[in-house]
Amino acid sequence: MDEKRPVVITGNWKMHKTVKETVEYIRLLVPLVSESSAKILLAVPYTCLAFAAQAAEGTNIQIGAQNLCEREEGALTGEISALMLKEAGAQFVLIGHSERRQFFHETDQIVNKKIKRALKEGLIPTLCIGESAAEREAGRAQAILAHQLAQGLEGLSEAHVLKVMIAYEPVWAIGSSQAATPEVAEEMQLFCRQNLAQKWGYQIADRLVIQYGGSVKSENAKSLLEQPDIDGLLIGNASLSVESFSKIVNSSQNAKIRI
Ligand code: PEP
Repeated sequence: MDEKRPVVITGNWKMHKTVKETVEYIRLLVPLVSESSAKILLAVPYTCLAFAAQAAEGTNIQIGAQNLCEREEGALTGEISALMLKEAGAQFVLIGHSERRQFFHETDQIVNKKIKRALKEGLIPTLCIGESAAEREAGRAQAILAHQLAQGLEGLSEAHVLKVMIAYEPVWAIGSSQAATPEVAEEMQLFCRQNLAQKWGYQIADRLVIQYGGSVKSENAKSLLEQPDIDGLLIGNASLSVESFSKIVNSSQNAKIRI
């Protein structure tokens, strides 16, 4: 087991929860996960950020956003800047989630700009990558990951790459109840790490956190986390309930010798 990498468990609420629900969720979650040595992250809706950050203050839970605008500021109706997220209490931000790529036409170039913007403002970016079912069937899964990694991290300094977290989320596994098996997830995550090592060197690749996401539940969390190259989990549906999210956080306790 590698002691250089923390275990990171991220909840992605997507377009769920009001401010009231957010504050109540965090109030209930805090005592359930207070003993965990994993990094616990919640990516909440913009409107909930400041309230979530306040509710999580002084706890082992960090709050972040699900997207940001690649531009600094300007006449961009409906967009939100990295500075605004920071001020609201965000510490990290998801970038390039497959729903953003699919429904909001985010290209690898936009994803790269967003990563750079987040880093410039001191937000930790989680770069989300993953192949679709069709790409996997066509035998292109690894090529897609290599491309998304190369484009997403293009032009970054080594110091900046070390700040980025990666989330491997096969599109076919997101919200489908069909998680990748631990073996398939490990194969792909190992591929990502080796690919990163080719470009950035083993010293850097060894230190990068690579999370798995896609239909993670309390039932499969431990077996996924037991894989050597799965450093954490990115969880959508199962993060909406305090009970299942806290179970997943606490299952990481037994899955990794390093924590
Ligand atoms: C996600 O949206 O990042 C995700 C992994 O969703 P789910 O856990 O619901 O598959």
